[in-house]
Amino acid sequence: MNLDKQQAQELIDFIHESPSTYHAVNNIREELNEAGFQELDLREEWTLEKGGKYFTTKNGSALFAFVIGKGEIEEEGFQLICAHSDAPGFKIKPNPEIAVEGNYLKLNTEVYGGPILRTWMDRPLSIAGRVSVKSNDPLNPEHLYVKIDRPLMVIPNLAIHMNREVNEGGALNKQKDMLPLLAMITDEMEKDNCLVNLMAEELKIDAEAIIDFDINLFEVEKGCILGLNEEFISAPKLDDLAMSHAGLKALLASGESKKTRMLAIFDNEEVGSLTKQGAGSPVLRHLLQRIVFKLGKDMEAFHRAVYNSFMISADMAHAVHPNGTEKHDPTNRPYINKGPVIKIHANQKYTTDGDSGTVFETLCKNAEVPYQKFVNRSDLVGGSTLGNVSTGQVDIRTVDIGNPMFAMHSVRETGGVKDNVYIRKVFTSFFGL
Ligand SMILES: [Zn+2]
Repeated sequence: MNLDKQQAQELIDFIHESPSTYHAVNNIREELNEAGFQELDLREEWTLEKGGKYFTTKNGSALFAFVIGKGEIEEEGFQLICAHSDAPGFKIKPNPEIAVEGNYLKLNTEVYGGPILRTWMDRPLSIAGRVSVKSNDPLNPEHLYVKIDRPLMVIPNLAIHMNREVNEGGALNKQKDMLPLLAMITDEMEKDNCLVNLMAEELKIDAEAIIDFDINLFEVEKGCILGLNEEFISAPKLDDLAMSHAGLKALLASGESKKTRMLAIFDNEEVGSLTKQGAGSPVLRHLLQRIVFKLGKDMEAFHRAVYNSFMISADMAHAVHPNGTEKHDPTNRPYINKGPVIKIHANQKYTTDGDSGTVFETLCKNAEVPYQKFVNRSDLVGGSTLGNVSTGQVDIRTVDIGNPMFAMHSVRETGGVKDNVYIRKVFTSFFGL
């Protein structure tokens, strides 16, 4: 297998093993552990030293990994790449079992973020996430991760004969049309506790021990490489596990440097980032402060470090769509496999400006990687991302970038094999400065 395909396959494998934010963070955690990074607990006292490799997690769904530079932190600053662990989809509601006419058992769900609803229909789905169980300390329940590794449910479409307008773009009701079918009801079934029983069985614990859960649906089918020349990656959640994965690989590949390098993977980007583990919280600022103080420096040094820092806010971007070429800006036309995309917005939903854009362009040139630019059509409203939210908490020079892709927020997204290689190269050279 050539390098391009091998790296694409690594990404596909990572995504497949990461059906929830908790699993994504845990998989990154394991790779960092293997690479000799030391895990730090936010609640414990830390001892840090120059050249040391560390990471910490928050809520099990956000992760911050850093390598402390050999130079003076107030002069060298931080080199940051941030991305997010979450993706739009469906969360299971409490008391989820709904019996239909004594025959079908379906589950009640709530939409998380902004998925393209129709793409979730007729797909084998399963569940993954975090289960909270009784412990001796009422303030600190134990958390277990669960992932049911088999097709478990489906959200069936209505037949076209019962919904003749289906191809005319009829709306789907989130409460009525999108509930997954889990089983045919049988006499032996304890249907009111079906889901908790299933998770307890999977975890080999007592069902009564499960107090609460944060569980989401996921698509069971693994991603793949496709295209005549095997040039595309088809997978769930490229937004934003592709950037999280590339950032991790770059951090692992980085050698000694004067600069302190950090990979920040936030949760809850898809719902506005204003959670304790999101980019809108003070978590990153607190961490940067803590690192500076633990190196024996003061507040003045922290401020100097911040103003000597640079952040790459890495979230995916929209490639010109083969069936929707008119949806893009007339003069900025990003395509798949033509390199990472610098995202620009006059009203600053993206943080990029001439200064930070130039930094990223220079990084690409030095890494011999092509790059492209994205600007919304002036009559279309685009999305937002991590950069501008994060700079509200800590005012670091930031550029918003991401790899080009199709079908953002579909259950199955499409990106480029070459773009995955390019972004890893650019991130690696950034962390190698
Ligand atoms: Zn995203």
